[in-house]
Amino acid sequence: MAERITDIGPPHYSKFLPPIIKDNYGKWASHEILEPGVLKHTAESGAEIYSVRVGSPRIITTLFARDICALADKYCGGYLRFTSRHNIEFLVTDKAQLEPLKAELKKAGLPIGGTGHSVTNIVHTQGWIHCHTPAIDASGIVKAVMDDLFEYFGSHKLPAQVRISLACCLNMCGAVHCSDIAICGVHRTPPKIMHEKLRHLCEIPTTIASCPTGAIRPHPDKNLKSVIVNEPRCMYCGNCYTMCPALPCFDSEKGGVALLVGGKVSNAKSPPAFSRLAVPYIPNNPPRWPETVAAIRKILIKYAEGANKWERVGEWIERIGWEKFFEVCDIPFTFQHIDDYKFQAYDTYRTSMHFKF
Ligand code: SF4
Ligand code: SF4
Repeated sequence: MAERITDIGPPHYSKFLPPIIKDNYGKWASHEILEPGVLKHTAESGAEIYSVRVGSPRIITTLFARDICALADKYCGGYLRFTSRHNIEFLVTDKAQLEPLKAELKKAGLPIGGTGHSVTNIVHTQGWIHCHTPAIDASGIVKAVMDDLFEYFGSHKLPAQVRISLACCLNMCGAVHCSDIAICGVHRTPPKIMHEKLRHLCEIPTTIASCPTGAIRPHPDKNLKSVIVNEPRCMYCGNCYTMCPALPCFDSEKGGVALLVGGKVSNAKSPPAFSRLAVPYIPNNPPRWPETVAAIRKILIKYAEGANKWERVGEWIERIGWEKFFEVCDIPFTFQHIDDYKFQAYDTYRTSMHFKF
């Protein structure tokens, strides 16, 4: 402990700002999108800075990081940043460097885009690369979906921006609960109880308290320090496994993808909204998840055809009605769509004669 350095916090961000941003901090007059992926900000002083936004796979190697640093050294005075959706932004103050940078990015296969009414990067999670509770992979599905929707990353042809997010289990690390289209990993099997291991690995009261439906009880045999699960009450959330390693509930054959739609976080035009269930289950199908990719494309295309300009996916659905959404997207409506979780489920039912046949 003698040489230990602690509680120093992150380095101050101002150390990494290009001089033009430092000089004009808080004094920006306007911005415009010059073309998909390229923004221009103009300060009150008349100073200008251009940002070139580039897609990234989020999980990157140090070699990739070095490559983008080399580009930033060459064209941006050594400055770049990452966006909150893991895109990379090259910050260009010398306008003459804009076209050479774009040409080199193109040569390197780094896609420019993610601005305006596009499908920008997919906020996603760890999946089978690093987490122990996923029902689906993250990076694999994201790559398959972005390959399919690539034309929408570098263009502005949608009615509004479409945020797609992925979480590999219902812990929903990230943004799936508030995205236009969300890909969520779901289990479909109750936990398998490893009675002999449970008493050594788990704190039983915490495990019992982790279950949102009260499905877990102490084992009736007082000599067996374990739990039982009332399986008809279990909806496979996997929370108990997060608490207790002796309750694994994953099954690669039965776990899979659920799609949610209609969430947003901005307050523009309508309040923020949670995303809601659209497709309850699509099987895992690595490495390209074709059924998931096709289902997302279908929702996106129907939205692009039917929505008014500036209308987000959720606003479009609210305008046409959920029954029409299911009809135009050709999604079967099933019992899984009907909320049955505690008292607030009531508020999601229709208490009106207003509906479309
Ligand atoms: S969403 Fe679930 S499985 Fe994925 S990283 Fe978060 S906790 Fe792990
Ligand atoms: S998976 Fe979820 S619902 Fe099922 S027993 Fe565990 S905590 Fe309860």
